[in-house]
Amino acid sequence: MGKSIRIAVLHFAHETVTFLKNDTTLDDFIYPGSPASGEALLGSYPKSYMGGFVKMAREFDGVELVGIESPLWPKTYMGSGWVTEDAFETLTGKMIAEIKAQGPFNGVYLCLHGAMAVRGVPRPEAELARRVREVVGAKVFVAATFDLHGNEDEEFLRHADMAFAVKYFPHYDEHLQGERAARMLIRAIKGDYRPAHVTVKVPIISATVVQWTGASPWMDLAQRALVWEAREPDVYVNVFFGFPFADVPDVGMTVQVLTNDNPGLADQVASDIAAFAWRQREALLNSTKIYTIQEGVALAKQAVAKRETPVVLADHSDRSGSATFLLKEIIAQDLSRTLIATIADATTTSKLKAQGAKAGDAFDMEIGGLVDESAGQPLRIQGTILNAVEGHGQFWVCIAFGRGNVLVLSTYLVQVMEPSSLKPLGLDIDAFEVIAIKSRAHFRRGFHDSGFAKTILLVEPTDPFLGTRRLDALPYRNVDLRQFHPYGNPTFPA
Ligand SMILES: [Zn+2]
Repeated sequence: MGKSIRIAVLHFAHETVTFLKNDTTLDDFIYPGSPASGEALLGSYPKSYMGGFVKMAREFDGVELVGIESPLWPKTYMGSGWVTEDAFETLTGKMIAEIKAQGPFNGVYLCLHGAMAVRGVPRPEAELARRVREVVGAKVFVAATFDLHGNEDEEFLRHADMAFAVKYFPHYDEHLQGERAARMLIRAIKGDYRPAHVTVKVPIISATVVQWTGASPWMDLAQRALVWEAREPDVYVNVFFGFPFADVPDVGMTVQVLTNDNPGLADQVASDIAAFAWRQREALLNSTKIYTIQEGVALAKQAVAKRETPVVLADHSDRSGSATFLLKEIIAQDLSRTLIATIADATTTSKLKAQGAKAGDAFDMEIGGLVDESAGQPLRIQGTILNAVEGHGQFWVCIAFGRGNVLVLSTYLVQVMEPSSLKPLGLDIDAFEVIAIKSRAHFRRGFHDSGFAKTILLVEPTDPFLGTRRLDALPYRNVDLRQFHPYGNPTFPA
């Protein structure tokens, strides 16, 4: 009674590093809490895309949200490769069947990421939108939210009506884009917004480590999009920086603009943003200084001597989470009071769990490395276990070694974004002069934007492994890098 607008809500997200050897399987999407449906899906963290969407949609009278059973992020998080066709077909098949069973709907919200890569499905988000469109028909509005790391081209908006991507990296505005998606979807359903869109590919490809929007010209690119949204009512601008570690045909930068039934304006805004990015193409690639691990550790030592602490050493390139290169160099250069968080090692952590490892136990094991060449060799660590706890589906072991150092082992890749997130492990963050983490830009929120770290050093190994910024060292099969700046000489506009 009284609910006149019914919206189906779906979630399907992954950022796939196709160069990793471990496929993302159906099993990885299934764990306690996932898949989720109904309120379990809708009642997400308020700062998430879904949180923003649900909050805004519920501010309107007469709107019913139907949480279609959807997989949450796989338990491997971003530390896994190609999504199997079996996972994609099974999960998508169930979602489509449920939309059919629970329909009819007036609108559909797709909570996506955009950099999912599926074996045999070149554009998985667009394929999901195509299948949704097939069951709901031409008149139902379909809106989506995206991460700016999405690899997109015009295909997605051939099947869906609207897309809203975050503007900042770190992605501070997820909930705001979710709110927009809800408001615009409801306005479209009510006949108040007639989406006219344009998609422009800009032939620039870059490693994610340089895409931090705290530095120019990435900051200026975000600002230019915001200015257009301020200047013209009902204009929405998405600048996808792209995710180069997925070997898929739609990599590279993409600009999307939505207007209210004004294709001319959409063209004008998209051309302006794309031309600005193209003019800045050289500076975009050089906005972040990256050191070798050896240089970075030496600079960390100097910063400690000058009391410019805490120092963050961020290995941006480790995509499995198991890389030991930075830890090896920290030991070689004899750093003290250093926290290493984390080294992912599923085998060792499960062994420790089975043994009932606990605080006070002596530790002498080889850890990390091995999963592929980018992870390097295992390292022998001798010390004492400070803590061993279960949490977030992982087993965490903190080991004290050397002169005031602590190594944190985890089951899977962990990207530490906030110093406070380490507190549940019983660690006193203030006790460390150097904190070595695996992150590219997301850590900036808790370590840089907060003013916490006095020195920040981005590092990568000397060899161009799979997370490198030297993309021409990667074994692409579906991408011709010569079609992109800086690896070829593309003309733009074509
Ligand atoms: Zn992202």
